[in-house]
Amino acid sequence: MSRCCTVNFKEHALFGPAIEVISAIENHGGEAFMVGGCVRDFLLGQEVKDVDIATSLRPEEIMNIFDKVIPVGIEHGTVIVRQRSLSFEVTTYRMEEDYEDYRHPSQVYFVSSIEQDLSRRDFTMNAMAMTSGGKLIDPFSGEEAIREKKIETVGSPSDRFEEDPLRMMRALRFSSQLGFTVSPSVLEVIKEKSSLLQHLSVERLAAEFEKTVAGPWYRKGLNYLAGTGVFAHLPVFCTCTDAAGRLPLVRLRDWSEMLSFYHQQIPGVPVEDWGRKWKLSNSTKKKARNISGAVQMYKERGLGDYLLYTLGGADLYSWVNVMRSLGYEMETDPVERYRSLPIHSRSELHLDTEELLQLFPERKKGKWIGEYLNALVQSVVEGNCVNEKDELIKWIIELDRQRQG
Ligand code: ATP
Ligand code: MG
Repeated sequence: MSRCCTVNFKEHALFGPAIEVISAIENHGGEAFMVGGCVRDFLLGQEVKDVDIATSLRPEEIMNIFDKVIPVGIEHGTVIVRQRSLSFEVTTYRMEEDYEDYRHPSQVYFVSSIEQDLSRRDFTMNAMAMTSGGKLIDPFSGEEAIREKKIETVGSPSDRFEEDPLRMMRALRFSSQLGFTVSPSVLEVIKEKSSLLQHLSVERLAAEFEKTVAGPWYRKGLNYLAGTGVFAHLPVFCTCTDAAGRLPLVRLRDWSEMLSFYHQQIPGVPVEDWGRKWKLSNSTKKKARNISGAVQMYKERGLGDYLLYTLGGADLYSWVNVMRSLGYEMETDPVERYRSLPIHSRSELHLDTEELLQLFPERKKGKWIGEYLNALVQSVVEGNCVNEKDELIKWIIELDRQRQG
């Protein structure tokens, strides 16, 4: 063990309650440590998002100690302990047997020491544990790797990537999130073994890819993805090789922004195909379609008020970000301009569907209703008609006269 930290853990919003959980386990004769990402982020001086705890006790024993426990993965040794309205994953020291089909370890078995538990972890910076007093257990020199900003595997990279190829993606995404360099020997093995990624589920790849593109050092991460040949094993990129080399000019923050960016790079692949091949959610696809449509509208007609209206408040910031990633300078502040639009939704129109129908009583209901209401919205948004009932009626009757004539 080394180092004793000066931080007052008990006062910390997450470490404080985590230490209470650890103390309760120790009072029942067990060992427990904070492990993994929280130790890494703490040493980096970064915000700690959650604290995972590793323990010598079995899940059933943990369930007997605490009142509020959620048995989320007892077969893997994991339960969630609720403490001060926060959740802590408490996992029994374990190791993993051979990975079947590259996806799941064929068996998880419990072990007796924290060092054994740390040895199954992916990278040296993720394989450290910390006592409630801030002492570090660091059998693989993770602290040194953090100091040198290096990503090294615990043990042979070849074996570790064979066991679980997702670790290759994780190495690249951590480089993008932390700005760390992947050690040359690890990079070599990723180049050799990148084809193993095809065995993984698309959902797992998609989650890592999103974090890689969204990291502060995304250029580093994307350059690694291209340089190691990993891109060639990712959906869509495997067939559209020129997309792989395109770097967004600013950081993209989520899948819908990424999809909108890459769709502009390879317009031949519809948003739908990206969504299907990467198994993205309907809300991601919807947002990407909205943003992509607005990018297209901008290219054809510039920054009009109706374009801002169609984006709506929710997607506007994402659209601005995607535009910047594509190299467009936004001369005026579109967010301010959006706020000052006369209306922001169809329901704010001072003419509703019933009133519109009464204007054309002889006409059968149909898609003309939506078209007329949208035309009204557009004319109000663009300042061609005032949002007052009489004006709207005059405007729509004139539109109808032109259409019928
Ligand atoms: P993040 O801030 O993204 O959550 P993290 O390091 O906490 O980073 P998690 O995916 O939450 O990452 O995993 C928690 C810990 O479990 C890791 O720090 C690592 O020790 C271990 N781990 C996670 N995934 C793997 C894996 N595929 N192979 C080996 N160890 C892993
Ligand atoms: Mg985590």
